[in-house]
Amino acid sequence: MADTYTQMVNSNLGRSVARKLGLPQPAVLRRYKSGQPLVTGPVVVVGDTPGADKLAAELLSWDLDVRRHAVPAEKLAAIILVLDELEHPAELERPVLAAAGSLRDLQPCGRLITLSRPAAEASSPHAAAARQGVDGFLRSLAKELRAGATGNGVLLGNGTATTSPSVLGAVRFFLSARSAFVDGQFLSVSTEDGALPPDPDRPLAGKVAVVTGAARGIGAEIARTLHRDGATLVLVDIPAAGDQLASVANEVRGTALQLDITGADAGQRIIDHAVQRHGRLDIVVHNAGVTRDKLMANMDQARWNLVININIAAQLRINEALLASEYFRSTPRIVSVASTSGIAGNRGQTNYAASKGGVMGMVRATAPLLATAGGTINAVAPGFIETDMTARIPFAVREVARRLNSLQQGGMPSDVAETIAFLASDAAGGINGQVLRVCGQNLVGA
Ligand code: NAD
Repeated sequence: MADTYTQMVNSNLGRSVARKLGLPQPAVLRRYKSGQPLVTGPVVVVGDTPGADKLAAELLSWDLDVRRHAVPAEKLAAIILVLDELEHPAELERPVLAAAGSLRDLQPCGRLITLSRPAAEASSPHAAAARQGVDGFLRSLAKELRAGATGNGVLLGNGTATTSPSVLGAVRFFLSARSAFVDGQFLSVSTEDGALPPDPDRPLAGKVAVVTGAARGIGAEIARTLHRDGATLVLVDIPAAGDQLASVANEVRGTALQLDITGADAGQRIIDHAVQRHGRLDIVVHNAGVTRDKLMANMDQARWNLVININIAAQLRINEALLASEYFRSTPRIVSVASTSGIAGNRGQTNYAASKGGVMGMVRATAPLLATAGGTINAVAPGFIETDMTARIPFAVREVARRLNSLQQGGMPSDVAETIAFLASDAAGGINGQVLRVCGQNLVGA
């Protein structure tokens, strides 16, 4: 499972050999640890709109070293490009070239963040062209950044200000080491809902969260991360994984619920357990999922149905129970785990990609239903993550899959977990029905 190549090219000898041979040079990514500062250097806010001024003032109030103009040769933690009033593609030139002058000064694992508005909400072809231009610009620039730096964008819906709670929440997430493996992505904020947590190190304090498939892999890491962020955990997995489940539950001081999520009463059992043992239910993370890969020409009914039933039908049924429950009405959060296979497609994974495409469709359609309770539902779509699931891929295929993203390495389960923790937090209250990829900006497919 270990990525020994990344370790090797980060040694002095390995680095010079890789450089001479033109081999990939993945950086060791900065990852979040409790108490770590948000950034370790100046943040330049580029843009001359009132929205840029307000954002800069807000970042100053977070005690960041904020600059409106870069000082040449000074190493920067982040460049934030505020493009919230674009009306024509010609207006891109000034801010974009101002940011370009600072790119060489971006620290290793630095951040570039754009704030712009969705093209679909533009009132003229000129404005739509400018806004869509930001999309192409950011995705290309993210591919040019080096040394573990990432580029991501926040899309501000109509009437959403640069200082709306979830815009600030998204900026904070993209700035922080929590978003180490999120690259080349846009996140839409559509409402003014949400609130920044009083303690940024414990954003889930007081919440009760359920994680399915929590006995191992990504699910166990989600449980650890939500626990670190202050949540009380209910961990769900099948009875056959009972011992592992109990050990993760002990580690995070949560409770274990042995349950097959495909059972007709799974949703009700989850609600009953959370309410009886912990008095409430705030967050449900649909993580349990399986693969049964076969080329479609060889696909059989059992493989097809197992994957559809566990990966999407169970989530749909559990969500119906949650939506009907009086205990899931206080700013509830659902976060589902999809996959980039469901976006870009993957040979041998028609069943899996259908189920994960299904997760994304379900999330978009369920968003308005949860919004009526002040809640949200979103999905993360992981790319190549270093887990038992990907360790089973034959070596040569695995090595290619692992390098085919802008960061030239696989992500860690913690990268998926950090993104889920953010989407489950109050800071993401204005983000609903979205799919955020955690894939290091996969170079193939969507
Ligand atoms: P994993 O196989 O290590 O863990 C999955 C867990 O789900 C297991 O503990 C399993 O017992 C549990 N589970 C399976 N069926 C269940 C059921 N019916 N009821 C309750 N629990 C059940 O997998 P992982 O790699 O940790 O993946 C977790 C999620 O991330 C899955 O949804 C997967 O599709 C998704 N994902 C993983 C990757 C990756 O690279 N590993 C990439 C994209 C998406």
